[in-house]
Amino acid sequence: MAVPQNRVTRSRRNMRRAHDALSAANPNECNNCGELKRPHHVCPSCGHYDSKEIVAVAREVDIDEDAA
Ligand SMILES: [Zn+2]
Repeated sequence: MAVPQNRVTRSRRNMRRAHDALSAANPNECNNCGELKRPHHVCPSCGHYDSKEIVAVAREVDIDEDAA
């Protein structure tokens, strides 16, 4: 098994971890439905992008009715 040759000091460890923070998501409002969506992505709730419908959104299926 590989073993570290030198001890990493608290200072060096913390300097390495200074770049580990995650940046916050930056959602935009959808032009069509107003739902928050990721920038440069099709809106997951209405399927629009650039005010055009790109992906048809499936209607909700009632599972109980489907089984009958
Ligand atoms: Zn939308």
